[in-house]
Amino acid sequence: MSWQPRAITLDLDETLWPIWPVIDRAEQVLHAWLTQHAPRTAATFDTAGLRRLREQVGRAHPQRAHDLSWLRQHSIALALQQCGDDPALAGPAFTLFFAERQKVEPFPDVPEALAALAARVPVLALTNGNADVQAMGLGQHFVGVLTAREFGCGKPAPHFFAAACERLGCAPAEVLHVGDDWHLDIEGAHAAGLPSVWVRRPGHPDKPATRQAQPLAEVGTLAALVDVLGWG
Ligand SMILES: [Mg+2]
Repeated sequence: MSWQPRAITLDLDETLWPIWPVIDRAEQVLHAWLTQHAPRTAATFDTAGLRRLREQVGRAHPQRAHDLSWLRQHSIALALQQCGDDPALAGPAFTLFFAERQKVEPFPDVPEALAALAARVPVLALTNGNADVQAMGLGQHFVGVLTAREFGCGKPAPHFFAAACERLGCAPAEVLHVGDDWHLDIEGAHAAGLPSVWVRRPGHPDKPATRQAQPLAEVGTLAALVDVLGWG
């Protein structure tokens, strides 16, 4: 690629590690904990029921869409309350869920590719989720993390991308955004004036037919991004 970015904003979930197996496991651990500490709630809500409730809470509180931690903890409190258990248990239950949610396994190409990117330009994590890159042992590759929760809204909002560029001290046209989600990452970056590269890992959905944005490249791994940039 002849164009070279001065900085990179990088999505986390599904770009650096698969998230859904981790959420599945965290929900199972949460349910096992409820079985011990709030058996009525555990008997009424299996893991699928808890997930449905979490989704309902998300629909009922669109103004909290940027704060997945709040939505999760609130949905646990609601389940406890509905079943006559102590809603205050939602605090320790969420702490447990959150710790499990951090136990991600990066895709095999990620540690080396991330180090190669970070050796060239500042890399800022830009996420709508609640991953903790320090807890995952990847913090040394990032100059920082901008989360939707901290900022008050997330991707695809153009001013979320603008805040990231400001933090990097770069104009949007100088920053490459890299992510897996067509709508949030690629269309979001496009609307904010950032060039993008779409990480579409094997088995991930294709772009929609009505696509408006045009990423600079589509890659199957982060290692392929390093190659496309000529930084290998
Ligand atoms: Mg993602």
